[in-house]
Amino acid sequence: MSATEIRSIGVLTSGGDAPGMNAAIRAVVRTAHYFKIDCYGVREGYNGLIKDTFTKMGPRSVSNIINLGGTILKSARSADFKTKEGRQKAFENCQKRNIDGLICIGGDGTFTGAQLFSEETGIKVIGVPGTIDNDIFGTDYTIGYDTALNTAMDAIDKIRDTATSHNRVFFVEVMGRDAGFIALNSGIATGAVDILIPEETDSIDEMFETFDKAAKRGKNSSIVVVAEGEKLGNVYELARITKQHYPNYDIRISVLGHIQRGGRPSCADRVLASRLGYGAVKGLMEGQSRVMAGIQSNKLVFTPIAEAIKKHNDLDPELKLISEVLAL
Ligand code: ATP
Repeated sequence: MSATEIRSIGVLTSGGDAPGMNAAIRAVVRTAHYFKIDCYGVREGYNGLIKDTFTKMGPRSVSNIINLGGTILKSARSADFKTKEGRQKAFENCQKRNIDGLICIGGDGTFTGAQLFSEETGIKVIGVPGTIDNDIFGTDYTIGYDTALNTAMDAIDKIRDTATSHNRVFFVEVMGRDAGFIALNSGIATGAVDILIPEETDSIDEMFETFDKAAKRGKNSSIVVVAEGEKLGNVYELARITKQHYPNYDIRISVLGHIQRGGRPSCADRVLASRLGYGAVKGLMEGQSRVMAGIQSNKLVFTPIAEAIKKHNDLDPELKLISEVLAL
């Protein structure tokens, strides 16, 4: 990869927000300043590229944000960016600031848009994985995942207190439309009796078997952690079917929802975001483009966006077994 002179870059956050995005923005802005590169923050994701919401940013524009959840640049889903005309308008706005590189913090969709934009315009792009789901190929962890996981764990700990006090069965829904990382790991961390995730083919009979075994062992309260995208049914359906089968069970439902997206980023997310933000700017300076910056085995790596969006991170199959063994 040959080094290229980068004079002016843009940074934006797109798709779902994730805690730690601010730490990534801060890292991009300050690294750019350190290497004497102009840096523009673009508000509201790709919509901002089209609507021309560029703001020149310097080290002081990102003071006191490393500890904030959400994204100071705001995020958006942009239908206009999916059109050629929208992307042409975005290109014209980039040209006004001589933008040679764009750092796009988001998920798969964000990277798809970035790749297309670069192919059409020649502007260099680097993706930074910011999503709580942790399902992006090319990085061991995505920005926001650790915080979301800890938020889910704290909430389930509290639910456990009430479950044990009343001999209740709780179905707790955590985020993860396509991926079970939050469910599986928060379930292990809170000693859930069962964990239902979209990557696995679960069955109601197996779940009932788990309840029966738990009852035989003298357990009088249970927590089942269910990922949002569980194919067997959502927490309401699972609770209804369980009540039909066990009319004596005192069943409760808790949907954790958006609290998992918010809040102060954890230390791990702040450090990850700082490393990736710094790495993305360095990557642009070294001539990288159409790649995603990630950390694998504690090293900064760049994965072609085409590959990152095609593949998905797999769950470690042993984790599910561990959860079952330890729920004895
Ligand atoms: P999350 O994982 O949180 O959903 P994401 O980055 O995958 O994050 P999306 O809403 O899928 O979120 O994508 C973000 C934005 O990226 C879209 O609103 C759109 O502007 C742009 N984008 C997605 N797909 C394309 C595409 N095929 N062509 C152009 N732009 C796209």
